[in-house]
Amino acid sequence: MLGQILMFDSVQARTCLHHAAYYGHADCLRAILAAARTAQVAASWGFARFVNVRDEHGATPLHLAARQGRPECVHLLLESGAIVSAPTGSYGFPGSTALHLAARGGNMGCVRELLAWGADRVQRDSAGRIAYAVALKRGHGACAALLNPAAAEPMVWPSPLKFIGELEADARALLEAALAEANREREKKIFLKGSPPSPSSSSDDAGAVDDDDDDDEGVDVCSICFEQACSIEVQDCGHQMCAACTLALCCHSKPNPTTLTLLPPACPFCRSCISRLVVADTKAKGPAAAVVGDDKPLSSPRLSRRRSRRSREGSSSFKGLSSAMGSLSSKIGRGSGRLAGDSAFLDKLEHDLP
Ligand SMILES: [Zn+2]
Ligand SMILES: [Zn+2]
Repeated sequence: MLGQILMFDSVQARTCLHHAAYYGHADCLRAILAAARTAQVAASWGFARFVNVRDEHGATPLHLAARQGRPECVHLLLESGAIVSAPTGSYGFPGSTALHLAARGGNMGCVRELLAWGADRVQRDSAGRIAYAVALKRGHGACAALLNPAAAEPMVWPSPLKFIGELEADARALLEAALAEANREREKKIFLKGSPPSPSSSSDDAGAVDDDDDDDEGVDVCSICFEQACSIEVQDCGHQMCAACTLALCCHSKPNPTTLTLLPPACPFCRSCISRLVVADTKAKGPAAAVVGDDKPLSSPRLSRRRSRRSREGSSSFKGLSSAMGSLSSKIGRGSGRLAGDSAFLDKLEHDLP
C-alpha cells in the first residue's frame, strides 16, 4: 500500500486521498493518513504536501470533501494539516476555497467545521464572491446565515497544529465538545436574529438554580464562570477550569498575522505559561480531599480555588483573575476585530463578576 499512496490516477491526477475524501470514506481516509505519516511519503514528499496535494484542476482532498458534503473527512483533513483557505485552480468556480465549495453544496456540517478551523468568510473567489454570496445564490439559507460576515464570528481553534495537535485525546474531545456547544449557542442567536436576545436569557435562567447547593458534593465549580464543573487541568501548575473557559482563553481567534506572534496562552490563575492541557482528575476528590484542614499549604491550587469560591466577594485572588480576564479581553479584542462573540462571552464573564 505504501507505494500506492503517492500514485496519481490517470484521469484527473488524483491520489487515493482525493478519492477517499470525495466519496466520504472517513475510515479509509484515516488509514491513508496514518500510513502516510509513517511511510516514505513523510520522508520523500513531506506529510503536509501529501495532505494538500492538488489534482489537475487544483483541487485538494479538502476541496473535494467540502464540495461533496463530507464533514467527517473535512474534520480529519483539517486536523491533519490541510490548508483551510487554499483556493482551487479551475475546480468548481476558479479561486474557490473549501468554504465556497461547502457553501455551494449547502452542507452545514462542512461549513461549521471550516469556520471552526478559521476559514475566512470574506475571502473572495476569482469572480469576487464571498462564500455567503454563493450560499445565497444556491438557496442555502441556513448556511448563508452562518456565512454572513455580519453574523457573529464562530469560536475558532488557535494555531491548530501546535497547540491542539499536542492535546491528549480525552482533553481534545472535551474541548471539541465545548467548542461545538459554544458555536451552537452562537448559531441560535444568529437564527433568532429577528428577536434580539435579551441579556437575561438562557444562562441567567440556569443561574436561578442556586448552585451553592451543589457545592459540598465534591464538584469543583469552575472559578471563572461559576457555572460548569472543572474538566480541564492546566499543566504544569495544576489549576483547573471548565472546557468552555479554557476555550475562551486559548481558542479565541483564527491564526492570522497579528495573532501568530502572540505568546502562548497563560493560566488565568497564576499567569504561568500553559504547557499542556489534560483532563482534570476528578477521582482525587474522595472523602479525604473534602477535609479542608488549616494545615494544608495555601499554594495548593485546588485549595485556593475552593477558598476563592467560598469567599467570592473581596477575594483578592479573584480580583486578580478578574483583571487578568480583562487584560485578556482587551488583548484579543484588539487585533482583528472578528471577535464579537468572544467579547460577548467575556462581557458576560465581567457581568457576572462581583
Ligand atoms: Zn468555566
Ligand atoms: Zn496556574
